[in-house]
Amino acid sequence: MRWKDFIYQQIIEHCNNTGSRTFSLQEILREKLSVFQAFRPDNKHIEAKIRQQLQFLRNDGLISFLDNTGHYTLRGVDLLDSEKEEIASIDFTKETPEKREYLVETYVRKVKWVKQAIDIFGYNCLFQSCGNTFLREDGIPYIEVHHIIPLCHGGEDKLWNLSVLCAHHHRMAHFSDANTQIAVEKLLLKEVAARI
Ligand SMILES: [Zn+2]
Ligand SMILES: [Zn+2]
Repeated sequence: MRWKDFIYQQIIEHCNNTGSRTFSLQEILREKLSVFQAFRPDNKHIEAKIRQQLQFLRNDGLISFLDNTGHYTLRGVDLLDSEKEEIASIDFTKETPEKREYLVETYVRKVKWVKQAIDIFGYNCLFQSCGNTFLREDGIPYIEVHHIIPLCHGGEDKLWNLSVLCAHHHRMAHFSDANTQIAVEKLLLKEVAARI
């Protein structure tokens, strides 16, 4: 194995251990000096070698130089081990039905409903004069589709029960106190009935 690949491997291991993509040469040396010495016992200039290889890794876009304090950031890895665990730990089946419904509505694409809802309601949150949105990367305004009466509470997957909300009001619909939730339901049913 080449020095560059070996050092890169050690950096990834180091970042996985610390749970941070940012590291310094000093940290790497402190933790891995004996590993590098074992890799090439004949090399008497380990630190200089690593400095040189960090430049190569930087040229390859695998790490970047952060500032004048000698810190680098690992760029060539999408997810650290700890982050992979975090994503794997989102287990929809363990959430309450209410929370699961919100997570699915918000994070799992429901192409059919998004299209229908936007055709009818446009991109405006149904809370009057809300106007809270932003442009997504593709230039389309951001909006979330919401079932007014949650499916887990017997709501239907039909047009009368469908609405569009900004992210804030969507959370309000799901996570506010009982009285507010009832008020939101009434308001949305009225707004939707006037449009379909
Ligand atoms: Zn919802
Ligand atoms: Zn809103």
